[in-house]
Amino acid sequence: MSLDGNGGKGPALEVTDLVKHFPIRSGIVFKRMVGTVKAVDGVNLSVNRGETLGVVGESGCGKSTLARMLVGLEKPTSGSIRVHGEDVTHLGKRGLHRLRRNVQMVFQDPYTSLNPRMTVGDIVGEPYLIHPDVVPKSGRRKAVQELLDMVGMNPDHINRYPHQFSGGQRQRIGIARALALRPEILICDEPVSALDVSIQGQVINLLESLQDELGLSYVFIAHDLSVVRHIADRVAVMYLGKVAELGTEDEIYTRSMHPYTQALLSAVPVPDPSVRGQRDEIVLEGDVPSPANPPSGCRFRTRCFHARSIWAQTATDEQRADTPLSDQVPDICREEEPVLQRREGAEHPNACHFAAPRDVLHADA
Ligand code: ADP
Ligand code: MG
Repeated sequence: MSLDGNGGKGPALEVTDLVKHFPIRSGIVFKRMVGTVKAVDGVNLSVNRGETLGVVGESGCGKSTLARMLVGLEKPTSGSIRVHGEDVTHLGKRGLHRLRRNVQMVFQDPYTSLNPRMTVGDIVGEPYLIHPDVVPKSGRRKAVQELLDMVGMNPDHINRYPHQFSGGQRQRIGIARALALRPEILICDEPVSALDVSIQGQVINLLESLQDELGLSYVFIAHDLSVVRHIADRVAVMYLGKVAELGTEDEIYTRSMHPYTQALLSAVPVPDPSVRGQRDEIVLEGDVPSPANPPSGCRFRTRCFHARSIWAQTATDEQRADTPLSDQVPDICREEEPVLQRREGAEHPNACHFAAPRDVLHADA
C-alpha cells in the first residue's frame, strides 16, 4: 500500500545500474580467475515509502544477490544504492552498522535461518546485543514479548526453541527478529517459498498488516508471480541478472508486454477450472542459461517463443535446417541488448525488441 508514493520525500530505496559479478577461480596453486558470474548485471529500481516492490524470476536470476546487496551483506561490483536519499553503496563498518538498523532482511528458509540452540527470546532479541542503544537492557524481555505479540505468537513462548514451532511460526519468529531494530525497509527474500501453500497466505497477510501498521517499505522476492500478486504494488520481473519488465500490479498481470513475463504468468495456477481449460500455457524450454555466459543480445532469446515465431515467418527451409534452434531469432535479438524502457503500446517499461501484449503474441505463437 502506498502511503505517500513519490510525494515530497523521495523513494525509500533507489538502485542505479547495480552490478554484482562473482569471479570464477580455478587452479590449486594460483587460483586464477577464469570467468565471472554476472549474477546482477545492471539493475535500476526504486521503492517508494510504504510501497511493496515485488521481484520475480526463476531460480538463478540474481534475486538473492540483489537482496544481499540491499542489506549490505554483499558489496556491489558497481552501481549505487540509496536509502532515503543517502548513498550507502560504499559504507564502512560504522555506516553498515547504521544501515542495518534501517534495512533488515527476512530470509527464505525459517528452518536453517534460526539457530536451533537459541531460545526464541534470544533469537528475536539478538539484534539488541549488536545495537544496544535501541532498547535498554532492562526493557529487552518486554520488547521481545511485544514483538512476538505483533507477529501473532504467544509472548509466553519466549523460552521455547525453534524446533518446537511449525514452519509458519518459525517464519513469524524471523519476522519478529527483523523488526527488532524498528527498520523502515524490509527485504523479504522468498519468505514463504519454504512454507506449505496453506500457510503462505497467513504469513503474507501478516506482512501486509505490519506494513500498514508500521509504514514499512518492502522488497518482496518470489520465484512465482502468483505469490507476489496480493502484496506487491509494483513488480519487477528479472531474467539473468536484469529487469525484463517493470510495472504496477495491474500492468504486469493484465497488460504484460514481455514474453518472459507472459510465460511466467501462463504457468501461474488458476483456481477456477473453467478458466484453466481455456488458457494456453507457454512452456519455456530449457533452463536459464548460465550467468557466467549469458546469450548475446537479448538474454532471453534462447528460450523466446515470440522471437522464434517472428523469425519463422520469413525463414527459408534452408535457413531452418542450418540455424541452431537457439539462434532462430531475428538478428536484432541476437545482436542488440534490449534496454529497459517504455516502448510503443505500453505505459510501463520492458526490455523486448518485439514487445507486444499477450493476445498479439498468442495469435502468432
Ligand atoms: P536467485 O536468488 O534468483 O536464485 P542468486 O542471486 O542466488 O539467484 O544467484 C544468481 C547467480 O549467482 C547464480 O548463478 C549463483 O550460482 C551465483 N552466485 C550467487 N552467489 C554467489 C557467490 N557467492 N559466488 C559465486 N556465484 C554466486
Ligand atoms: Mg534466491
